[in-house]
Amino acid sequence: MSGTVRCPDCEAVVPDVPELRAGHRYVGAAPGCWAAYTELLGRQLSDPALAEARMLAVDAYMAQHPGAPGRQASQSVWVHLIGLYLTLERGYDGISSARAKALAAAPEASFEWLEPPASYGSSTVLDVVAAATADEHRDAVRRWAMSVWGAWGAHQAAIRTRADDVLGGTRGR
Ligand SMILES: [Zn+2]
Repeated sequence: MSGTVRCPDCEAVVPDVPELRAGHRYVGAAPGCWAAYTELLGRQLSDPALAEARMLAVDAYMAQHPGAPGRQASQSVWVHLIGLYLTLERGYDGISSARAKALAAAPEASFEWLEPPASYGSSTVLDVVAAATADEHRDAVRRWAMSVWGAWGAHQAAIRTRADDVLGGTRGR
């Protein structure tokens, strides 16, 4: 065993996994944290009762691990924060949220880098991995998502405005 490391983004203490260090090309997570996330997605994919939780978990994880400033990371943070907003504040389901996110990520859209918060909240992917039942799992994803959304409080107004602008064009005005 090679010990543990603290994820530089969410601060979860995770196993160090040297062979995974190449990692994702723009997510900033520690490899052990990314491994916990992929385990989580696997569990959600194998259980239809967790389909909605999966959509929210993707938004929470990506918004909690923005990575290094750059076009792709900027867009990812914006789009997943829009997903958190629509699900948590507007009550969108996963499909509607995915549709709205696709609109927001139109090829001509540009996204300035949002200065990340000092802390991404106290809840992490590990809290969800620890959940035993589907109900606990869904609750844990929701708490995690709320925590991440709250952590980005300084940018919430901008996210709401952007999302509402994007969706304004789809209301058949
Ligand atoms: Zn992490």
